[in-house]
Amino acid sequence: MPQRTHGPNNPTPQEWLAEDLSLQYIADYKAFNFVDGEGVRCSLYVSGCPFHCPGCYNVAAQNFHYGKPYTQELEDQIIADLSQDYVQGLTLLGGEPFLNTQVCLKICKRVRREFGHTKDIWSWSGYTWDELLKDSDDKLEMLSLLDILVDGRFLEEQKDLTLQFRGSANQRIIDVPKSLKAHQVVIWDKLVR
Ligand code: SF4
Repeated sequence: MPQRTHGPNNPTPQEWLAEDLSLQYIADYKAFNFVDGEGVRCSLYVSGCPFHCPGCYNVAAQNFHYGKPYTQELEDQIIADLSQDYVQGLTLLGGEPFLNTQVCLKICKRVRREFGHTKDIWSWSGYTWDELLKDSDDKLEMLSLLDILVDGRFLEEQKDLTLQFRGSANQRIIDVPKSLKAHQVVIWDKLVR
Protein backbone atom coordinates (compact mmCIF):
# COMPACT_ATOMS: atom_id res chain seq x y z
CA MET A 1 0.00 0.00 0.00
CA PRO A 2 1.21 3.53 -0.65
CA GLN A 3 2.66 5.28 2.33
CA ARG A 4 0.09 7.78 3.63
CA THR A 5 1.42 11.15 4.66
CA HIS A 6 -0.09 14.62 4.91
CA GLY A 7 1.12 15.21 1.39
CA PRO A 8 0.75 13.13 -1.77
CA ASN A 9 0.99 9.34 -1.82
CA ASN A 10 4.48 7.93 -2.34
CA PRO A 11 4.60 4.62 -4.25
CA THR A 12 7.48 2.19 -4.09
CA PRO A 13 9.17 1.42 -7.44
CA GLN A 14 6.83 -0.50 -9.77
CA GLU A 15 4.06 -0.52 -7.15
CA TRP A 16 1.65 1.24 -9.50
CA LEU A 17 1.31 -0.17 -13.00
CA ALA A 18 -0.80 1.04 -15.90
CA GLU A 19 -1.78 -2.55 -16.69
CA ASP A 20 -3.43 -2.81 -13.25
CA LEU A 21 -4.89 0.68 -12.97
CA SER A 22 -5.65 2.28 -16.33
CA LEU A 23 -9.05 2.00 -17.94
CA GLN A 24 -7.69 3.97 -20.90
CA TYR A 25 -10.11 6.81 -20.17
CA ILE A 26 -9.63 10.39 -21.25
CA ALA A 27 -10.65 13.31 -19.05
CA ASP A 28 -10.35 15.91 -21.81
CA TYR A 29 -8.72 16.88 -25.06
CA LYS A 30 -7.87 20.51 -25.80
CA ALA A 31 -6.66 21.38 -29.28
CA PHE A 32 -4.71 24.58 -30.00
CA ASN A 33 -3.97 25.89 -26.50
CA PHE A 34 -1.15 28.11 -25.29
CA VAL A 35 -0.79 27.08 -21.66
CA ASP A 36 0.40 23.45 -21.56
CA GLY A 37 3.99 24.04 -22.66
CA GLU A 38 5.86 26.02 -25.28
CA GLY A 39 4.01 27.26 -28.38
CA VAL A 40 0.60 26.20 -29.62
CA ARG A 41 -0.17 22.71 -28.37
CA CYS A 42 -2.72 19.92 -28.44
CA SER A 43 -3.25 18.55 -24.94
CA LEU A 44 -4.53 15.12 -23.97
CA TYR A 45 -5.70 14.77 -20.38
CA VAL A 46 -5.74 11.12 -19.32
CA SER A 47 -7.83 9.88 -16.39
CA GLY A 48 -6.49 8.46 -13.16
CA CYS A 49 -3.83 9.60 -10.73
CA PRO A 50 -3.22 7.89 -7.37
CA PHE A 51 -0.74 10.48 -6.11
CA HIS A 52 -3.74 12.43 -4.74
CA CYS A 53 -1.72 15.59 -4.10
CA PRO A 54 -3.58 17.96 -1.76
CA GLY A 55 -4.40 21.04 -3.85
CA CYS A 56 -4.28 19.11 -7.17
CA TYR A 57 -5.35 21.30 -10.11
CA ASN A 58 -7.53 18.57 -11.61
CA VAL A 59 -9.11 16.48 -8.83
CA ALA A 60 -11.81 14.99 -11.07
CA ALA A 61 -9.15 13.44 -13.28
CA GLN A 62 -7.63 11.56 -10.31
CA ASN A 63 -10.40 9.00 -10.88
CA PHE A 64 -9.52 6.29 -13.41
CA HIS A 65 -13.24 6.06 -14.30
CA TYR A 66 -13.58 9.76 -15.10
CA GLY A 67 -14.35 10.89 -18.63
CA LYS A 68 -14.68 8.61 -21.63
CA PRO A 69 -12.70 5.88 -23.37
CA TYR A 70 -9.82 6.77 -25.67
CA THR A 71 -10.81 5.99 -29.25
CA GLN A 72 -9.16 5.66 -32.63
CA GLU A 73 -11.32 8.58 -33.80
CA LEU A 74 -9.87 10.83 -31.10
CA GLU A 75 -6.36 9.73 -31.98
CA ASP A 76 -6.96 10.51 -35.65
CA GLN A 77 -8.31 13.93 -34.66
CA ILE A 78 -5.23 14.65 -32.54
CA ILE A 79 -2.96 13.72 -35.44
CA ALA A 80 -4.97 15.92 -37.82
CA ASP A 81 -4.77 18.83 -35.36
CA LEU A 82 -1.03 18.35 -34.86
CA SER A 83 -0.48 18.48 -38.61
CA GLN A 84 -1.29 22.21 -38.64
CA ASP A 85 1.92 24.16 -39.25
CA TYR A 86 1.37 26.48 -36.28
CA VAL A 87 1.10 23.62 -33.76
CA GLN A 88 4.38 22.94 -31.98
CA GLY A 89 3.48 19.65 -30.38
CA LEU A 90 1.55 17.27 -28.17
CA THR A 91 1.17 17.58 -24.40
CA LEU A 92 0.24 14.67 -22.13
CA LEU A 93 -1.14 15.40 -18.69
CA GLY A 94 -4.00 14.33 -16.52
CA GLY A 95 -4.30 12.47 -14.38
CA GLU A 96 -1.04 10.55 -14.59
CA PRO A 97 0.26 9.89 -18.12
CA PHE A 98 2.75 7.26 -16.90
CA LEU A 99 -0.11 5.20 -15.45
CA ASN A 100 -1.96 5.37 -18.75
CA THR A 101 0.86 4.16 -20.94
CA GLN A 102 -1.47 2.08 -23.12
CA VAL A 103 -2.86 5.36 -24.44
CA CYS A 104 0.21 7.55 -24.13
CA LEU A 105 2.68 5.14 -25.72
CA LYS A 106 0.31 4.62 -28.64
CA ILE A 107 -0.09 8.32 -29.36
CA CYS A 108 3.62 9.08 -28.78
CA LYS A 109 4.68 6.36 -31.20
CA ARG A 110 2.22 7.58 -33.80
CA VAL A 111 3.45 11.17 -33.45
CA ARG A 112 7.03 9.99 -34.02
CA ARG A 113 5.94 7.83 -36.95
CA GLU A 114 3.98 10.60 -38.67
CA PHE A 115 5.97 13.69 -37.71
CA GLY A 116 9.41 12.45 -36.61
CA HIS A 117 10.85 15.21 -34.42
CA THR A 118 9.15 18.07 -36.26
CA LYS A 119 6.57 18.07 -33.43
CA ASP A 120 7.66 17.89 -29.81
CA ILE A 121 6.08 15.89 -26.98
CA TRP A 122 5.78 17.23 -23.44
CA SER A 123 4.43 15.25 -20.49
CA TRP A 124 3.66 16.09 -16.92
CA SER A 125 4.07 13.44 -14.21
CA GLY A 126 3.66 13.11 -10.47
CA TYR A 127 6.67 10.79 -10.59
CA THR A 128 10.09 12.33 -10.26
CA TRP A 129 12.80 11.66 -12.84
CA ASP A 130 14.64 9.33 -10.43
CA GLU A 131 11.47 7.41 -9.62
CA LEU A 132 10.68 6.86 -13.29
CA LEU A 133 14.16 5.46 -13.93
CA LYS A 134 13.48 2.75 -11.29
CA ASP A 135 10.03 1.91 -12.53
CA SER A 136 8.41 -0.38 -15.12
CA ASP A 137 9.48 -0.88 -18.74
CA ASP A 138 6.40 0.86 -20.16
CA LYS A 139 7.24 4.00 -18.17
CA LEU A 140 10.85 3.93 -19.38
CA GLU A 141 9.73 3.44 -22.97
CA MET A 142 7.38 6.40 -22.69
CA LEU A 143 10.14 8.54 -21.18
CA SER A 144 12.37 7.71 -24.15
CA LEU A 145 9.76 9.17 -26.53
CA LEU A 146 9.45 12.54 -24.78
CA ASP A 147 11.18 15.85 -25.36
CA ILE A 148 10.19 17.46 -22.07
CA LEU A 149 9.11 16.01 -18.71
CA VAL A 150 7.69 18.24 -15.99
CA ASP A 151 8.30 16.02 -12.97
CA GLY A 152 7.15 15.55 -9.40
CA ARG A 153 4.08 15.87 -7.20
CA PHE A 154 2.37 19.15 -6.55
CA LEU A 155 3.43 20.21 -3.04
CA GLU A 156 1.24 22.87 -1.48
CA GLU A 157 4.02 24.07 0.82
CA GLN A 158 6.13 24.87 -2.26
CA LYS A 159 3.30 26.35 -4.31
CA ASP A 160 4.42 29.27 -6.51
CA LEU A 161 2.10 30.64 -9.17
CA THR A 162 4.90 32.62 -10.83
CA LEU A 163 6.72 29.51 -12.09
CA GLN A 164 6.61 28.58 -15.78
CA PHE A 165 4.41 25.58 -16.52
CA ARG A 166 4.42 24.18 -12.99
CA GLY A 167 2.68 24.78 -9.69
CA SER A 168 5.31 24.09 -7.04
CA ALA A 169 9.03 24.78 -6.77
CA ASN A 170 10.03 21.10 -6.45
CA GLN A 171 8.80 20.41 -9.98
CA ARG A 172 11.33 20.64 -12.81
CA ILE A 173 11.12 21.17 -16.57
CA ILE A 174 13.51 18.50 -17.80
CA ASP A 175 15.07 18.12 -21.24
CA VAL A 176 14.58 14.37 -21.64
CA PRO A 177 16.95 13.50 -24.53
CA LYS A 178 19.80 15.50 -22.99
CA SER A 179 19.16 14.01 -19.54
CA LEU A 180 19.11 10.44 -20.82
CA LYS A 181 22.36 11.07 -22.67
CA ALA A 182 24.07 12.75 -19.72
CA HIS A 183 22.72 10.24 -17.14
CA GLN A 184 21.62 13.16 -15.02
CA VAL A 185 18.82 15.70 -15.02
CA VAL A 186 19.36 18.51 -17.53
CA ILE A 187 16.92 21.38 -17.13
CA TRP A 188 15.19 22.84 -20.18
CA ASP A 189 17.48 25.53 -21.62
CA LYS A 190 14.61 27.99 -22.14
CA LEU A 191 13.70 28.04 -18.45
CA VAL A 192 13.14 31.59 -17.29
CA ARG A 193 11.70 30.89 -13.86
S1 SF4 B 1 0.38 14.26 -9.62
FE1 SF4 B 1 -0.68 15.96 -10.66
S2 SF4 B 1 -2.63 15.07 -11.37
FE2 SF4 B 1 -1.78 13.68 -9.85
S3 SF4 B 1 -2.77 14.28 -7.93
FE3 SF4 B 1 -0.79 15.34 -8.06
S4 SF4 B 1 -1.27 17.34 -8.98
FE4 SF4 B 1 -3.02 15.98 -9.37
